[in-house]
Amino acid sequence: MAEDKCGVAGCNGQAIKSYSREAVEKAGLRAADEKGKRMHLCKEHNKQYKKATKEDRKLESLGR
Ligand SMILES: [Zn+2]
Repeated sequence: MAEDKCGVAGCNGQAIKSYSREAVEKAGLRAADEKGKRMHLCKEHNKQYKKATKEDRKLESLGR
């Protein structure tokens, strides 16, 4: 069940979602496994990820 753990460095939460590591790192989260292609996220980090990606989009539209 190791794959069900959150992939963020220092976090041991139970994963609920998985994304590409690249996308997660772009959102500002640090991967524990720097070579993995996919990354699981726990509830908290999933929230952070979504918030970060949403804010990116918001900043982009505001810049125009
Ligand atoms: Zn986590």
